[in-house]
Order: sequence, then C-alpha cells, then structure tokens
Amino acid sequence: MNSTATRLVIFGRQGAGKGTQCDRIVEKYGVVHLSTGDMFRAARDQGTELGNKVAPIMASGGLVSDELTIAIVEERLASEDIQRSGFVLDGFPRTPTQAEALLEMLGKDRLHAVINLDVPLEEVTARMKARAREDDTDDGIAKRLALYEQETVPTIEWFADRDLLVTVDGLGTEDEVTERLFEAIDGVLAATS
Ligand code: AMP
Repeated sequence: MNSTATRLVIFGRQGAGKGTQCDRIVEKYGVVHLSTGDMFRAARDQGTELGNKVAPIMASGGLVSDELTIAIVEERLASEDIQRSGFVLDGFPRTPTQAEALLEMLGKDRLHAVINLDVPLEEVTARMKARAREDDTDDGIAKRLALYEQETVPTIEWFADRDLLVTVDGLGTEDEVTERLFEAIDGVLAATS
C-alpha cells in the first residue's frame, strides 16, 4: 500500500452518526469509505449469491460469519483505489477475530488510528427508534445493539489494549463532532508522520 495513505477504523454504535462523519472524513483526508454494511446491503439488493446468503442474517439483526466478512474485506482492501488512497473502515472489524485478521492483512501497513465515536446506548436507542429504516424493526434494533455490546465492545477493548484506540465524544452537533474527530485524526497523523 502507498506508504502515505491514511488507514483508519471507526467504531460507533448504530445511530452514532458514523455515516455523516465518514463522508466528512472522506472529503478531508481523501480516503475510501469502506463499509461492510453497505457492501452487504448492495449485494442483497442486487440479489447476488453473497446477497442471498446474507439477507436473512441481516434481517434478523445477526452477524455475517467472520469467514465471509473477512474474505470480502480482504478482496476490497487489495483494490487499486484503496492501495493508493487509504481507507476509513466502518462496521469492520466487529469481532476480535476480524480485528486480528485485519492487522494480519495489513502487515507492515499499520493502522494510523482506531476511533471510537462514543454515543451512549440510551441515546442511540432513542435515535434509532426515531429513524425508521427498512431493516430497523424494534427487535432488530435491540438485537443489533445487544450484539454490539457483546461482540464489538470487546473488539474496541482489543484495540485499546494495543494502544491504537482514540475515543471521540459523539454527543453534540454534527459540526462539533466533526471538529473533535478531525482534531483526533490530525493528532495521530502528526504523531506517525
Ligand atoms: P451495518 O450497516 O454496519 O450495521 O451492517 C448491517 C448488517 O450487515 C449487520 O447487521 C450485519 O448483519 C452485517 N454486517 C456488517 N458488517 C459486518 C461485520 N463486520 N461482521 C459481520 N456482519 C456484518
């Protein structure tokens, strides 16, 4: 990978505002937004073999297998645009197994930062119930948020143990959050350049 390409991971509960903030990160840092949720939704909507396999899992709020998820990320990371421009990974890794696989895939290309866009559980639950997406049934929301606590919070801690984690307060206006995020990213980029 291009040695100057920026390599970021962003964590945040569903409803934490990651989508908007990722758009802004892409605009400022020129990285490619890589969302496994978007990849799975596109495959589902196109009715590909992968899509048909993941559709019922997504509908129930469960997680696609590590094996399948790691394989699609590995393939995407090898693509020319990401090799050139770097990435912000969103929705991956979601389990410690995926985190280990990611570091292995990157090899000597270390991550610059793993950001935790932190919004408390009660706040995202209220936000998600207010915004009705097709796959956002009350049961689905509850299951996804519970899975986040079970699987993803330990993954965040896995990165914290390796001194890669930067926590950013996700409460406040979108602009306030963006300002905090950019400050955090600029800080780690300055420290590693
Ligand atoms: P998201 O938009 O990130 O919430 O992803 C939507 C759905 O795609 C999730 O509820 C999972 O079913 C699936 N998914 C996305 N990313 C992953 C991942 N890293 N591991 C397993 N399943 C995933």
